[in-house]
Amino acid sequence: MNLLLMGLPGAGKGTQAERLAESYDIPHISTGDMFRAAIKEGTLLGKKAKEYMDSGNLVPDEVTIGIVRDRLAKGDCKKGFLLDGFPRTTAQAEALEQMLAETERTIHFVLNIDVAREELMARLTGRRLCRDCGATYHTIFNPTDVEGVCDKCNGELYQRDDDNEKTVGTRLEVNISQQQPLLDFYQEKGYLRSVDGSRPIDQVFKEIEDILSEVSHSSVVS
Ligand code: AMP
Repeated sequence: MNLLLMGLPGAGKGTQAERLAESYDIPHISTGDMFRAAIKEGTLLGKKAKEYMDSGNLVPDEVTIGIVRDRLAKGDCKKGFLLDGFPRTTAQAEALEQMLAETERTIHFVLNIDVAREELMARLTGRRLCRDCGATYHTIFNPTDVEGVCDKCNGELYQRDDDNEKTVGTRLEVNISQQQPLLDFYQEKGYLRSVDGSRPIDQVFKEIEDILSEVSHSSVVS
């Protein structure tokens, strides 16, 4: 199954993506995670991406399209993939269509997790992650038992550099203006399904599963 997960920053894409990737046994490809890994490793890609990420702006299309093209060419994507955070511009969406067509693949569903802007601001500025296992928490909505310490592995919690209020504001504005043309693009192609992301994680996941069961009963899945 070839899936795209859309939604503004903080809509819960990462959380749903982890579950989906496990349930459907497909690789979870997050461009944000790829850039963060490259920054951590100090690679050339990381150096290119860092200044854009720190200011809440998008990394240039040619850089982003290149890393996705390489990733989708890997063997584990033959059984399907879940793209999270890509495409974010119309140029990226068009490049994706082209790279899939070249390898005789198609997108099956574009899942849009819909959450109001005000709620996203609160979600993002309170978000905390574990340095060791990557688990996600929230200072108010999902706090750890001991402040600053991961419930799962006792690792230290941290706040992403771009989750401060100023950068979150920019990220939301940038993403809102970029997202609408993409939603229109996929709506027109008939791929788009929207789910209400303001509900509890399990309910959102259940609705996604119901949508995906449509595809497993149809002929598009190879
Ligand atoms: P995310 O983890 O998806 O919120 O992405 C974090 C940051 O990585 C974004 O604010 C962008 O700077 C960069 N980024 C991630 N995905 C893309 C993309 N598809 N196009 C351009 N920049 C991206």
